[in-house]
Amino acid sequence: AEAQLRQVQKMEAVGQLTGGIAHDFNNMLAVVVGGIDLARRRLNGPRREIMTHLTNAMEGATRAAALTRRLLSFARSEPLMPERVDTAVLVGGMSELLDRTLGERIKVVTDLSGDAWPVFVDPHQLENAIVNLAVNARDAMEGTGKLKIRSLNKHMKASEVGDIRGGDYLCIEVTDTGCGMTPEVKERAFEPFFTTKAVGKGTGLGLSQIFGFAHQSGGEVGIESSVGKGTTVSIYLPRTDAEPSNVRAHPAMHARTEE
Ligand code: ADP
Repeated sequence: AEAQLRQVQKMEAVGQLTGGIAHDFNNMLAVVVGGIDLARRRLNGPRREIMTHLTNAMEGATRAAALTRRLLSFARSEPLMPERVDTAVLVGGMSELLDRTLGERIKVVTDLSGDAWPVFVDPHQLENAIVNLAVNARDAMEGTGKLKIRSLNKHMKASEVGDIRGGDYLCIEVTDTGCGMTPEVKERAFEPFFTTKAVGKGTGLGLSQIFGFAHQSGGEVGIESSVGKGTTVSIYLPRTDAEPSNVRAHPAMHARTEE
């Protein structure tokens, strides 16, 4: 539970960090725009001067590109180490963390199917995904409301949600009674860096990371949302037939966990 709490604190820190980075990024863009603007105004002036302005613009753009590269690699660097996961156990173990994250005035309810199909995913990434959704729900509820986490077995038809392939999935639904999303926000919600939150509050990376995680795991994510009523985000993860013992015995996996 302490490691999980540290994870939440880390994520909040990343949020603040990213806000700062957005500010730096804007400053770099200002250098780029300024350089190009000055070069345009001096088009009839000495070549050397034009070159100086363009070089400044280039440097600003190069620094901005380096910054976004760092940010993206930070967001995506964690390698996937999938194993057979029982989501009822995983989510059940997060209850204290979720209570603390959501605060006293938001009620957390779980409805975890006892015979839920096992899935083959990176447990840390799944935990991160749920924490991300819980933080989003908290932000959408402004202090009071209800957060519900439900897991259920579902047989999906191809393209029933997004690009999902037909088959058996474990579905984890996170539902809040928050402000909901307008169709415009919903449309862009998975875009990296898309956020409607204040600088320093939102990174715009939460849902895009979840999208990446679900797709890398062979699954899909869906959003249902209604303004003023609330939002449900559903993560679909393919049912696995891996036996627990087989997973532990997998030599490659062992080598990686011991690093
Ligand atoms: P962030 O939370 O840092 O803004 P996300 O990628 O997690 O980044 O979310 C992107 C945007 O989607 C949010 O800024 C918000 O506008 C919207 N959003 C996400 N989750 C919810 C939710 N549960 N209720 C309402 N809006 C949401």
